[in-house]
Amino acid sequence: MHRTETFTDRINDALDNEQLHSNFRSAMNYLMEKRRDKFPDQEKLDNLRNIASSIRSNSLSNLAELLIKLEEKLESNNIKVHWAETDLEANNIIYQILKDANAKTIVKGKSMVTEEIELNEFLEDKDIEILETDLGEFLIQLANEKPSHIVMPAIHKSRKEISKVFAEHYPEFPYTEDVDLITQQARKILRDKFRQADAGISGINFAVAETGTLCLVENEGNGRMCTTVPPLHIAVTGIEKVVEKLSDVVPLLDILTKSATGQEITTYFNMISSPRREGEKDGPKSMHVILLDNGRSKIHQNNEMQETLKCIRCGSCMNHCPVYTQLGGHAYGTVYPGPIGITLEPQKQGITQLGELTSACTMCGACGEVCPVQIPLPKLINKLRSEAVEGNNANELIEGAGSMRKLLESLAWKNWKLIYSNPFVYSMFSKTTTTLNFISPKTIGKWGKYRTTPKPSKYSLKELANQAGFDNE
Ligand code: SF4
Repeated sequence: MHRTETFTDRINDALDNEQLHSNFRSAMNYLMEKRRDKFPDQEKLDNLRNIASSIRSNSLSNLAELLIKLEEKLESNNIKVHWAETDLEANNIIYQILKDANAKTIVKGKSMVTEEIELNEFLEDKDIEILETDLGEFLIQLANEKPSHIVMPAIHKSRKEISKVFAEHYPEFPYTEDVDLITQQARKILRDKFRQADAGISGINFAVAETGTLCLVENEGNGRMCTTVPPLHIAVTGIEKVVEKLSDVVPLLDILTKSATGQEITTYFNMISSPRREGEKDGPKSMHVILLDNGRSKIHQNNEMQETLKCIRCGSCMNHCPVYTQLGGHAYGTVYPGPIGITLEPQKQGITQLGELTSACTMCGACGEVCPVQIPLPKLINKLRSEAVEGNNANELIEGAGSMRKLLESLAWKNWKLIYSNPFVYSMFSKTTTTLNFISPKTIGKWGKYRTTPKPSKYSLKELANQAGFDNE
């Protein structure tokens, strides 16, 4: 992630990178097509989205109660629960658990929440070896990069780039650009790591309050290895991932896999209910769950913005976003990119810090149409944009609201309102701008770099209508 550069710098870099465009364009086309094929019947899709949305709304309406129930059930299943208010707190708890178990080598399944708390960096600083085991994450870790997509972390890399990274780190294997062969080589490396690891760390897709079951959706089996082979398993999740009943998982899983990768179901679906029991042959000897807040309860207090927390991290909104497709995930400079990223991250980190992200949206509405849990993303992005510039009425629940207000911009909009709400002023304004159109600027600053600068017409709309014989009085 390029946190030191500005958002504009990262956008310019991304727009100048032809290879990146081509990687993302073809990957997004592929994912959109696969999703479309899985939902041939719009009525069935609408029905499934309604169900998924109401399950997630129910979770959020009863969040406190469900979390208490989840904790009780997990503890009665012999899974130790820890609450973390911040990323630092979560990292410290995880470190302490590992230290107590004398765990020095960790295998980790794909987990966006551990990216969010920067767990790898934290543990590496403490001399703990932590290895990503999802193939995409593994390659990204070798390349010393960050994921550019929440489901497919290495999607920005071409086959050649992946082969090069792999060959640099594992010269003992013959160079190949065959993805199947690279996968086999990676499997050989990882297999030993699973056997030797002192602990496994994973994320969670759904945490069921009714039964204390942790559900993990994955395709490579690495999640299952991380959660069953090492003697210690630590699962990390945001508090919003709780669902009320086991039966809630069925429609959510159905719409998640179809929306994310266009699969009927993923290759592996893990339901973890306890550490190894007496007489069982596999499974960890002890298990811990970290329930992370990290700004979520503040978002939850705002009735309108709370919908952000319904997200099941399918990635579909970014697959369909024209801005994400042009820029790729790294340009956002945040863990969660795309439409869900520009909605979630400014709320978590504050508008002062990340308000400019909300401009990375064309308001085309595609994200809202495909979101499997019906999060009204365009409406929420628009709301954040207005909160960013609203002065006196700034919303205390959205940190930094009003901080992007600029005097000149406010004046420009005030004038625009004055002109467009008064027919006489409007007529004078259009007369002046059309008459003096020859002095309009040829380019409009940075805005014009990738756009054609609009030129005022020689004639006003009224004059054009008159010329065309319309009576517009
Ligand atoms: S906001 Fe909706 S579409 Fe985007 S990742 Fe979340 S669930 Fe998927």
